[in-house]
Amino acid sequence: MVSLVQLKNKYSFSIIGGGVIGCSVAYHLSKELGEEVVLLEKDFIASGSSGLSAGILSHQLWNEIDIELVKKSVEWIKKESEEEEGIVLNQDGLLKLVCTEEEIEPLKRNVNMQQSIGCDVRFLEPNDVEDITPEIAIKDVTGAAYCPDDSYVDPYQLCVHFAKAAEERGVRFLQRSEVKGIERKEDGVFQLRTARDTVESETVIICAGPWSKKVTKMLEFELPLKPYRTQAAITTPFMGEVKIPMVHDVSNSLYMKPETGGTILAGDGTESTESDPDNFKEKPGFDFMTSISEKMLRRLPRSENARLVRGWSGLCTATPDRRPLIGFHSGTEGLFLAVGFNALGVMRAPAIGEMVSDLICGRRTQDDIAEFDPNRFEKVEDFEITQGFTL
Ligand SMILES: Cc1cc2nc3c(=O)[nH]c(=O)nc-3n(C[C@H](O)[C@H](O)[C@H](O)COP(=O)(O)OP(=O)(O)OC[C@H]3O[C@@H](n4cnc5c(N)ncnc54)[C@H](O)[C@@H]3O)c2cc1C
Repeated sequence: MVSLVQLKNKYSFSIIGGGVIGCSVAYHLSKELGEEVVLLEKDFIASGSSGLSAGILSHQLWNEIDIELVKKSVEWIKKESEEEEGIVLNQDGLLKLVCTEEEIEPLKRNVNMQQSIGCDVRFLEPNDVEDITPEIAIKDVTGAAYCPDDSYVDPYQLCVHFAKAAEERGVRFLQRSEVKGIERKEDGVFQLRTARDTVESETVIICAGPWSKKVTKMLEFELPLKPYRTQAAITTPFMGEVKIPMVHDVSNSLYMKPETGGTILAGDGTESTESDPDNFKEKPGFDFMTSISEKMLRRLPRSENARLVRGWSGLCTATPDRRPLIGFHSGTEGLFLAVGFNALGVMRAPAIGEMVSDLICGRRTQDDIAEFDPNRFEKVEDFEITQGFTL
């Protein structure tokens, strides 16, 4: 029997995209609006960038607004992990390293700013790194910083956690439902066309990650977004019982994150050219796999006993000023954007979902979050991609 709930096709709010941002928005909106919300996902929950992410949550960023969002997100995940099943926060700290003289000052400046807003971060001389971990080679290191509160989460788990709670409160999740066309009826209601259905809604919230530019083209406008490729790989087990914090070697574009079973996830391999989300090389490049194991060996000598068993690449989405676009689009009434999260989407997702819900429900105004105003660029011009996870 087909239930009436399954037949419903009119909603107040539709979310396009079931990545970490779309799922967080669904979760936060569901607290008040439950059955008024539908989420359409072209494949499956977390099948885009979110499921490919390393899941690192770091307070060691370059600007206050993002750090506050990370703080809030970490607190939220911590509380959920204490109260609910199915989500785990691994708080093992992150060690940031620089290897040139020029990078010491920016690193110190960031540490001072992070401390001034209450983060437990400290600058370290190279020799102090030994106190955090003796496993890391420091011969070429010129400066370091350490934050014990930096942590990681399984990004798939996080998406599913949001989605399950939202679904329990009445949000409808339509997976394998690619939005192929968006039209506006005379009464202003949007019609979202998928291969199987047409869904109507008064407000559309675009959370389509690297595909967002393609989605807004259906409404005939461009966004200043550039998806770019970044890569990661995982090793065979080799750490045994030895524990290390996460490590981000800024000068050599390498990050390492301990995984279960004594393996290490190593990544970066970030490109500075735009990629097409429907046609990019999903396999890691041979160059990346070779260089990442060499970099890892130099920084973590114990990895000489490790092999890389699996690698992948995914897309992050850049904006001209490295800040996301969050808010109502001025040219299309009822259209809300939550896009452009660079390489920092997972670590800010819980707080971003709440911010979107606050804006939509009128608890905050765009003036409160002017930095993320999606209408701040007068026209869409070419820009250089600057990756997210840097100094
Ligand atoms: C290798 C790698 C490592 C990373 N590591 C980290 C990290 O450690 N920490 C961190 O914070 N961030 C990290 N990131 C970045 C992070 O993954 C992104 O910022 C984040 O996932 C963006 O989430 P999103 O929901 O905006 O996009 P996505 O997860 O891509 O979600 C968008 C969804 O929209 C769907 N969609 C697209 N078009 C349509 C359509 N027409 N109709 C319906 N659905 C549609 C897609 O299928 C997709 O599921 C990493 C990224 C990569 C690639």
